[in-house]
Amino acid sequence: MSDEHFPVIVVGAGLAGCAAAYRLAKAGYDVLLLERGKRPGGKNVSGGRLYSYALEALMPGEWLDAPLEREVRREMIMTMTERGAVTVNGLLSPNHSGTSYTVLRSKLDGWLAKKAEQAGALVMTGVTATEIVIKDGKACGVLVGDERLEADIIICADGANSLLAENAGITNKVTMENIALGVKLVVGLPEQTINDRFNLSGEDGAACLMVGDCTKGLAGGGFLYTNKESLSLGLVVDASSIKSAKTNIADMIEELKEHPAISPLIVGGQLLEYSAHLIPEGGLNMMPKVFDNGLMIAGDAAGFVINSGLTLRGMDYAILSGIAAAETAIKSIQAADYSAEQLNQYEVMLRLNVLSDMETFKKVRGFMKDTAGLYTAYPKLAETIFKSIFTVDGRPAKRISKVMINSILSHTSVWQLIKDGVKGALSL
Ligand SMILES: Cc1cc2nc3c(=O)[nH]c(=O)nc-3n(C[C@H](O)[C@H](O)[C@H](O)COP(=O)(O)OP(=O)(O)OC[C@H]3O[C@@H](n4cnc5c(N)ncnc54)[C@H](O)[C@@H]3O)c2cc1C
Repeated sequence: MSDEHFPVIVVGAGLAGCAAAYRLAKAGYDVLLLERGKRPGGKNVSGGRLYSYALEALMPGEWLDAPLEREVRREMIMTMTERGAVTVNGLLSPNHSGTSYTVLRSKLDGWLAKKAEQAGALVMTGVTATEIVIKDGKACGVLVGDERLEADIIICADGANSLLAENAGITNKVTMENIALGVKLVVGLPEQTINDRFNLSGEDGAACLMVGDCTKGLAGGGFLYTNKESLSLGLVVDASSIKSAKTNIADMIEELKEHPAISPLIVGGQLLEYSAHLIPEGGLNMMPKVFDNGLMIAGDAAGFVINSGLTLRGMDYAILSGIAAAETAIKSIQAADYSAEQLNQYEVMLRLNVLSDMETFKKVRGFMKDTAGLYTAYPKLAETIFKSIFTVDGRPAKRISKVMINSILSHTSVWQLIKDGVKGALSL
C-alpha cells in the first residue's frame, strides 16, 4: 500500500472519524478510514449517553436502526455522602420527544464504521498511523510504519491526547490541568432486573449523575446509565486534583460499588468490561488550531468536550465535528484548494454549534474545580436537611425554615452558599 493516494484520509474510527468518513463516502468521495484497533470501537470508552440530534444531523432517519440501548426517560441527580445519598428523580412524560439514548461504543462505532463502508469508504483496521507527513508546509499523508499513504486532506480524529496532531506541531501537549480521568464498568444484569431496580418499563432508560463522596472530595462526579442488559457505572475526576490526592480512581470506583445507594442497584451483576480513558475537558483553553494546510482535527483530538456537571458531552460534538470536517473537505476538493485559508470553513461551521456551546460553558470547569463545597459540604447539607425534615422522634418540632438555616450553618455559611450560588449561576 505504499505511496497510495487518497483524496481524504481519516485517522481514527471513533465517532468523529466514522462520521467524517460516512459523510464523505455518502457524497461519493473516496476516503480511507484508518483504525489502530482490531475493530472500530473495540476499546473506545464513553459513559454512554448520546444526544441523538447529532445522529439525525449525520444520517436523517437512518440512525434509528443504530444499536442504541435505551432512550433516557428517567433522570436522576444524586448527591452522596459517605453512607447516604439524596436523589432527585424525574420521569419525563411520554410525549417528551426523545433526545438521548444510552449506547455501548463497542456496538455503535462498529455499526457506524460499517455504514461508512457500505457507503463506499475503505476501512482498514489494525493499522496505526504513526505520523502526519508534512511537505512544503502542507499535510500530505500519513506514515503507517515505514509506509506512506498520501492524501490531499487528512482528518485527524484519533481521540484525546492526539499524538499525531502534537507531533505535527498543531496542538500543545495535553496538561493535567486540562484533562479528566474517566473510569467505567459495564455490569451485566437481566433486563427485567434493571427495569425493576430503576422503576422502568419497556425500553425506557435511566441516567443517574452523582456528585459528592463518590470522588472523595475531588472535582468530578459519577454516572450510572441503564443499557438493555447492563449498567454503565463510572467516574470522571479532574486529573490535576488526583495528582495531589491520597487516593486513586481505581480505589474510588471500588468504593462506589460498595456505596449503600449504588450496591443494591448492581448487586448480582457480572462485570463485563472495565476501562479507563482521558477526557479533554479544558474547553477553549486547550483547543488547538483545528485546521492547517491539508489538515483538520475533529472530536476529542480537538478537545471538543463539555462537562457542565449535569451533562457530559463529547460524542455529539465528535459527530458534529466529523460532519463539519467532511463538508469542508468536499468544498475543498471541489475547489482543488487544500490550503488553510480554504479549510478555515471548518472553523466557521464549528462556530454554529460546537464552538458556540464551548463559549457558553467556558466558565463551568473553573467553577467546578474551585467550588469544593460541591463535593463535601453541600451533599452533607442536603442529607442533614432531609434527615431533619423526616425525623419525627417525639421531641418538639422545628419549623422547616429553622431546620434549613441550622443545617446550613452546621456545614457552611450563608455567605459561602450565596457566593457559590452566584458563581454557579454565572457559569452555568
Ligand atoms: C469515562 C467517560 C465517560 C464519558 N461519557 C460520555 C457521555 O456519557 N456522553 C458523551 O457524549 N461523551 C462522553 N464521554 C466523552 C466521549 O467518549 C468522547 O468525547 C468521544 O468518544 C470522542 O470521540 P472521538 O471519535 O473523538 O474519539 P475516540 O472515541 O477516542 O476515537 C478515537 C479513535 O482513534 C483511534 N486511534 C487513535 N490513534 C490512532 C492512530 N494513530 N492510528 C489509527 N487509529 C487511531 C482509536 O483507536 C479510536 O478508535 C465520556 C468519556 C469517558 C472517558
